[in-house]
Amino acid sequence: MIFADADENYREADFVILGIPFEDSEMSFREGTSKAPDFIRYYSHNYESYVMESGIDLQNIKIHDAGNFSIEEAKNFVRRAREENKIPIVIGGAHSISPFLISSINEDLNVVILDAHLDFRKDYMGNEFSHACASRRIFEEVGKNRMISIGIRSASREEVEEAEKLNFKYILSSKFKKNIADEIKFDKIYLSIDMDVFDPCYAPGVSNPEPNGLGYEIFEFIKKISKKIYAVDVVEVSPPYDDGRTSLLAAKVIRNFISWKI
Ligand code: MN
Ligand code: MN
Repeated sequence: MIFADADENYREADFVILGIPFEDSEMSFREGTSKAPDFIRYYSHNYESYVMESGIDLQNIKIHDAGNFSIEEAKNFVRRAREENKIPIVIGGAHSISPFLISSINEDLNVVILDAHLDFRKDYMGNEFSHACASRRIFEEVGKNRMISIGIRSASREEVEEAEKLNFKYILSSKFKKNIADEIKFDKIYLSIDMDVFDPCYAPGVSNPEPNGLGYEIFEFIKKISKKIYAVDVVEVSPPYDDGRTSLLAAKVIRNFISWKI
């Protein structure tokens, strides 16, 4: 099953959706992210093709669903898609896929991460490519002036100390304000959405749910920066723990993003 309204061919498409059913299985609190791409595709068919709030009918937008890829295949695909000025929308998979995608793109994209977790470990259980190290690996790639994490409410003491020491910019969930989008001065953005940035009442089906999170203000935030976004990933949905709510929300974020970006 393809993502709803994503039936354009690759050549003509302005947006390309791909899944990466990758899971670093030894270390997530709850497994299942490898099932997320197809689960989110399924739930995308819940919606009208017409996105009411933006007045855009996605049937008239050129969207291609390229199917599922390994990380290695996805790196080449995403690099090429950007070179051809298409907007890649990647459905994970664990958050560990993001550093690979960002480093594959031959552009100076700035990175905005929405996440409950700092993900700033040097390594996690011996694996430096763990989802728990995603932001650290990206930080090492792009540097402190080209990245910010938003929605944070969980980290180890060591992560916080290292983040302070290295000047890693992040905004706590409790400090989130409507106008934060106006403070982001990046011109071209890679947006990484770890679905656990939402409160578990909105997104219960994630690998590491963390209460006291954010709600639909995330939509407002993404809308405000959408014109500057050139690549997106949506990660960490765990279908075995999802009653559909989380995947519906992930599909909605993707559909609304397309309607705002176009
Ligand atoms: Mn994460
Ligand atoms: Mn997280």
